[in-house]
Amino acid sequence: MNQKQPASRILVVDDEPTARLLMQASLRQAGFVVEVAADAAAALSVFRDGSFDLVMSDVEMPGMDGYALCALLREESDVPVPVVMVTGMDDLASIDRAFEVGATDFISKPINWSLIGHRVRYILRASSAMADLRRANASNRAILDAIPDLLFEIDLEGRYLEFHSADPMPAGWTPDDIIGHNVSQVLPGQPARIMMAALQRAAEVGRVNGVQYEVETPAGPRWFELSVARMESDDAPLPRFVVLARDITERKNAERQIEELAYVDTLTGLPNRLSFLQRLEREIVRAGFLSNRLAVLFLDMDGFKNINDTLGHTVGDLALQTIGTRLREGVRPTDMVSRLSNDEPELRLARLGGDEFTVLVPRVSSTDEVMQLAERIRDLMTRPFLLEGREVVLTTSIGIAVYPEDGNTADALLKHADTAMYHAKEEGRDNCKFYNSALTQRAAQQLNLASNLRLALERGEFRLAYQPQLDVASGRFNSVEALIRWTHPEHGVISPIEFIPAAERSGLIVGIGEWVLRTACADAMRWRDAGLALRVGVNISVRQLRNAGIVDTVRELVASGMAPELLELEMTESVLMEDIHATLLVLRELRATGVTLSLDDFGTGYSSMSYLRQLPIHRLKIDQTFVRGLPDDAESLAIVRAIIGLARSFGFDLTAEGVETLEQARLLRQLGCDSMQGYYFSRPVPAEAIPGLLDSRWPQLEQP
Ligand code: C2E
Ligand code: CA
Ligand code: CA
Repeated sequence: MNQKQPASRILVVDDEPTARLLMQASLRQAGFVVEVAADAAAALSVFRDGSFDLVMSDVEMPGMDGYALCALLREESDVPVPVVMVTGMDDLASIDRAFEVGATDFISKPINWSLIGHRVRYILRASSAMADLRRANASNRAILDAIPDLLFEIDLEGRYLEFHSADPMPAGWTPDDIIGHNVSQVLPGQPARIMMAALQRAAEVGRVNGVQYEVETPAGPRWFELSVARMESDDAPLPRFVVLARDITERKNAERQIEELAYVDTLTGLPNRLSFLQRLEREIVRAGFLSNRLAVLFLDMDGFKNINDTLGHTVGDLALQTIGTRLREGVRPTDMVSRLSNDEPELRLARLGGDEFTVLVPRVSSTDEVMQLAERIRDLMTRPFLLEGREVVLTTSIGIAVYPEDGNTADALLKHADTAMYHAKEEGRDNCKFYNSALTQRAAQQLNLASNLRLALERGEFRLAYQPQLDVASGRFNSVEALIRWTHPEHGVISPIEFIPAAERSGLIVGIGEWVLRTACADAMRWRDAGLALRVGVNISVRQLRNAGIVDTVRELVASGMAPELLELEMTESVLMEDIHATLLVLRELRATGVTLSLDDFGTGYSSMSYLRQLPIHRLKIDQTFVRGLPDDAESLAIVRAIIGLARSFGFDLTAEGVETLEQARLLRQLGCDSMQGYYFSRPVPAEAIPGLLDSRWPQLEQP
């Protein structure tokens, strides 16, 4: 806010001599230059002669009253001078009237003379932002117009005091429809409540960002994102706010599109794999809390491939749709679910892909019950399908895994249900099998994993592999991702997918993660000393972020010579969203060290897309699942497109992971991906092998 000079010029208009004198004296004492007028007509001529910073006018005056004067003053110049009306005490009608004629503020009688100077100074300051904007020269104005925001000034009660919009208002509003009106008159109920809540919050904490709301307009629904800043003032009776409302409709549409595509199988309309896994994760947490068991049924049609091969894909698709419909029927609340109370989660269906379907049973009291459900589904499926005028009979094999016995993560349960399904097929199709044979064995294995991990660090059983990433613009590898490898003396190589979750659960990840960070930086520095400036990406897990040590370690590494621009920290979306406020603080500290931050596995967790904008990150890594479907799968393509669009609108760099074929690489390059990583370019390799890879060139990407 622009600071007014103390010698602001004020015109006081009042027909009552005493009031006029008192006002004049009080304001002079407060350091203002004051001129007076005894009626509206005199006021107008004094006003025209001198340039004033503020007019303070009584409402009730013989002849022309204060309202009329105010309206005339408003027409007088295109640089509006704040006009303050002096109204009767608590006279709401006259206050409303004052704003209707364009008054900036009002002061009620009786006037507190000792405070009047402060009050006026505050009013001058508070209105100066908009006045400045209006007074701004043409170039400033153009800059302002280039900002695609609506700019408001609002008081705590939600009254619009000022308003600027580069484009015509979305709802066809004019400033007159807005200024002087209340939020509740301008916006519909829900957005109005959101806006008022944001003002309240800003009144308490000073600033609020990223609050979103949707408004119906004649042109369809529009989304806005608010940033609210309290205007600082020591002597204000009530705070005021500058509100920026950004039209984010385009972005919202892109987000929604991604969400829909990312979660729904378009063929059957059922939730897809991603949606199922997320749901399963949530249900696992819930079941853990409530000490419930839950079951995952994995269904696979026997001999479905034949249908595709003999009758073609169109008929195959039709069959899958019919299967989807029958499954819905099969899991509809019946005997089994009906005794669950209404707020219990329902059975959840999904199509994983191909002819694989899953059912999630969120609460299981006996395995018999699950078996009955499986039988019912198998019965439904044995009804003949009418395909191309032919009756075709299909059978189903079902595998079942139960939480917690058969695993306590979504991935493990799904994998084990899948394994059980294979056993069912092996034992002669049209069959149903539980996965619990290897149950005890597995529990023992897990125990071992944790204690083995403890030793692994001491024994030096970890090493890092590096996978290069291609910078599309230069056509060269400019960075690598560090991926941990564990070679157990007896069990051999164990995948990080197996042991990282165990390391997280046991807290050992903090120590392991620090080792990874230090080792990766040491390698990066060695490469740099050899003249190879490679950025190194390091995966950071939840527990590490919760632990303040990470910031210290990074700072220490930078202090000891690690170039921060060569270090990139990769974190998954779900990790960041879990405790967004705490995480933001850590992220900002990390970013301040100069390292690059990126969001790993992007696209697999959209819970709080609205926070994305707040995250101080540089890069998104598109999750492999989406890249895998390229170039043929229309959904994957649409999702990748939408993510690229989103990254552009947020200003993020973009890396595609899991690029396995030339077609995928070409397509991603065409779509505008900055960077690529995957087996097509190179598998993860030992550090020593990296320098040898750096001469690789990829001219084939540029051909159509
Ligand atoms: P991520 O961060 O998404 O890493 C990429 C994974 O995809 C790596 O598996 C990599 O080998 C694999 N990959 C790369 N290109 C392709 C491809 O073209 N096709 C396919 N199918 N896969 C490809 P990896 O090394 O088994 O790591 C698995 C996960 O383990 C990582 O996923 C990461 O979440 C975690 N992880 C690995 N190293 C660390 C570490 O040092 N710390 C932490 N916290 N997590 C790690
Ligand atoms: Ca990663
Ligand atoms: Ca990843």
